Amino acid sequence: MVFWEGYVSDEVMGTFAPIVVYWLYAGFFQLLPPLDNYRLHTRKEEHVKNSVPLSSVIKGVLLQQLVQALVAHLLFLGLGFSYREGVMVFWEGYVSDEVMGTFAPIVVYWLYAGFFQLLPPLDNYRLHTRKEEHVKNSVPLSSVIKGVLLQQLVQALVAHLLFLVTSETGLVGTEIQPSLVVQIFQIIVAMFVMDTWQYFVHRYMHINKFLYRHIHSQHHKLVVPYAIGALYNHPLEGLLLDTVGGAISFLISGMTARTAVIFFCFAVVKTVDDHCGLWLPGNLFHMFFQNNTAYHDIHHQLHGLKYNFSQPFFPIWDKLLGTYMPYDLIKRPEGGFEARLSKD
Ligand SMILES: [Zn+2]
Ligand SMILES: [Zn+2]
Repeated sequence: MVFWEGYVSDEVMGTFAPIVVYWLYAGFFQLLPPLDNYRLHTRKEEHVKNSVPLSSVIKGVLLQQLVQALVAHLLFLGLGFSYREGVMVFWEGYVSDEVMGTFAPIVVYWLYAGFFQLLPPLDNYRLHTRKEEHVKNSVPLSSVIKGVLLQQLVQALVAHLLFLVTSETGLVGTEIQPSLVVQIFQIIVAMFVMDTWQYFVHRYMHINKFLYRHIHSQHHKLVVPYAIGALYNHPLEGLLLDTVGGAISFLISGMTARTAVIFFCFAVVKTVDDHCGLWLPGNLFHMFFQNNTAYHDIHHQLHGLKYNFSQPFFPIWDKLLGTYMPYDLIKRPEGGFEARLSKD
């Protein structure tokens, strides 16, 4: 066993480890004190005789290492990479499915939420005005970002342990993918399992006053949801609702780590979208999911707290158990929309 076993392939290590080791060892020498008693040339000599500055040397070395990495990559390819059966994925041979399953959802979260964060104000598509966002939300963006990062740290640790325990061989590139039909079935099963877990735990956190006050109310500090706040939860809630929910879905569906990459990334994008606060034309989630941004917005309103607990995929449990709140999407005179409870 080597320390990178199960994380990155030997080919990737063979390509990049020499480069990392170069900079570590050379960096060690660079950081030493002058040590004039041990030099083969004086420092003055170094200064006078060398006709190229350090910055150019660094650039030159990096260029050489780029070429070197490309050749090493091609060489390993030519020597017959052992690709696993089934459809190739773009991370094939670079990082393991387990690492992708752990980190891709985190990267996807920040990419998708970051995209929403960088949009212009879009006042004509907002579910709440910008002023409302400012007045009603009781936590600054910086705290939200910190909270999300903390949750993702815990999530990555649990995912890592989970994949370690369930990985059949502990080796990269040996688990065989089932057929596409089986994978789609597994994803549907995982969606139902996740919905079921989240509905009951989420609803219980609203019923139990202690849990609501000390745990779940943190998520509801964002009365006006925005994308980056999608996973702004108390760390215990993040663990119980999202992370354990994800683990159970993964285990019951029987999906491989490779299928889990797709499923977890999809779940994350859906959750971010549900909190984006915008009703944009052409949003596919709004077209295909009844449980969408407006649906979840109702739950974030003070008068909607007892309804629309279902998340992240389907409204089934709300409808079966009488917590479904129909709403009307009304155009605001000042621009944008409002999801208004039909009972009002
Ligand atoms: Zn809630
Ligand atoms: Zn929410």
